[in-house]
Amino acid sequence: MAVQQRKTVVTTETTKTTETTTTKNVEHQVGKTWGRDRDVSFGTILISLGILVMSPIWVLYTYISCNGYQCAMSAPALEVYNAPDALIALKALLARELPTFSPYAARLFFTWLTLQAVLYAFLPAQIGYGQRTPAGHLLPYKVNGLLAWVISHSIYAAGGLYFGWWKLSIIHDNWGGLLIAANAYGYFLTFFCYIKAHLFPSHAADRKFSGSFIYDLLMGIEFNPRFGKYFDFKLFHNGRPGIVAWTMINLSFAAAQYQKIGYVTNSMILLNLLHATYVLDFFYNEDWYLRTIDIAHDHFGFYLAWGDSVWLPWLYTLQSHYLVRNPVDLTPIQFGFIFAVGFTGYFIFRSVNHQKDIVRSTNGECMIWGKPAKVIRTSFVTSDGKTHKSLLLCSGYWGLSRHFNYVGDLLISLAMCMTCGTKHLLPYFYIIYMTILLLHRIQRDHTRCKGKYGKYWEEYMKAVPYKLIPYVY
Ligand code: NDP
Repeated sequence: MAVQQRKTVVTTETTKTTETTTTKNVEHQVGKTWGRDRDVSFGTILISLGILVMSPIWVLYTYISCNGYQCAMSAPALEVYNAPDALIALKALLARELPTFSPYAARLFFTWLTLQAVLYAFLPAQIGYGQRTPAGHLLPYKVNGLLAWVISHSIYAAGGLYFGWWKLSIIHDNWGGLLIAANAYGYFLTFFCYIKAHLFPSHAADRKFSGSFIYDLLMGIEFNPRFGKYFDFKLFHNGRPGIVAWTMINLSFAAAQYQKIGYVTNSMILLNLLHATYVLDFFYNEDWYLRTIDIAHDHFGFYLAWGDSVWLPWLYTLQSHYLVRNPVDLTPIQFGFIFAVGFTGYFIFRSVNHQKDIVRSTNGECMIWGKPAKVIRTSFVTSDGKTHKSLLLCSGYWGLSRHFNYVGDLLISLAMCMTCGTKHLLPYFYIIYMTILLLHRIQRDHTRCKGKYGKYWEEYMKAVPYKLIPYVY
């Protein structure tokens, strides 16, 4: 039933976007205002350089904190700071704690990547469509993530529990070597895509050059790099190796906890449940994901290439790394409270996103909270000079604030962190990061939608003045 509904979404998205040819003189207008930044300031370039340098260091730092210091975030820094000779202490710490290359872990990583690529390319798939790109393309995507998730997890469980090919803690046991392999791939992919964008782009008119090597490397040049018609780098890397692995990493760390203390704590079970809900929702609604900002706005550079390969799997799972080292037994009240926060968040997250998809798929002819949907009918122009029609929902959740879906996401994220208790800050990295990411995203989305919809976006802002929390922000 739900699948049927998603199929309908695809069809109507495609057919209800009407096109009329308008003046030819719109290309630079569209390119400048809609889509990734093109003119970047010196300050932006400096910040970009900071992100390129600091992100890998931060991942490494969290790895060292967990591996050598029981996830106490300040411990490595304090050890160096308090030493009589900081440089010698730093060298000693790095010599002792840095992950080392492991041929076995490298084989594991690249086998995993190949498996995901094969599943993505060859499993039966529905075809979904993204949003129209700034250059006017409406691209098809293979939607088969749920099946890939089920097959991957079945292989992992069967290999570990039935055939005895590996221990279920295999990911935990090879975490350092995997980090090296994932980094190697993340960097390779970043530079490959940078070169591909110049030499053999998939959709040349959708590229954006800023004139800054650093900014282009970080934020990407190509919008939808592909191999052939369907192998989409963005959907594959955003969705597959990292997000399929997300739940498997947690399971592996739960298995490691079992080996270490003889049982799996209720906090670890709740964490696995919350993460699995989020991940399975992602795959169950993968078609919806094609019309979110990740796919509809971001170009493919280090931010996504390295981010999906390293940042996501290493940092989004920090809570399970913490719980292996610091087992937490929640009281029934704590368990119930965290469960309630998490699933309230999930309910909000899914309902808000669903309202947007339904209103778009029915062209606004639907009921929202028992009343006919209130919409603003908009038009926008792509750089091929064509005008398209769309609509903005301004009732239901989308009448409360312009990003109420983020409230739901923040609640789930908070619940995930709360499973770790309150002794250490490191497991709360996720909620801190998500808050910064989503607040920044509100700003990015505002710029994008203002550029895309102009006066219609102003009208929407008047109708719905709050960005996130009604009457607060
Ligand atoms: P949205 O799904 O809210 O997408 C924003 C886009 O929706 C806008 O650019 C616009 O695009 C369209 N839109 C905006 N307002 C309206 C409206 N009133 N009616 C209809 N369409 C509208 O945001 P995201 O893509 O950022 O997030 C999707 C989900 O993913 C969220 O729930 C978020 O919390 C989650 N997320 C999770 C992350 C994680 O790492 N765990 C990271 C980022 C997001 P257009 O008009 O072009 O269609």
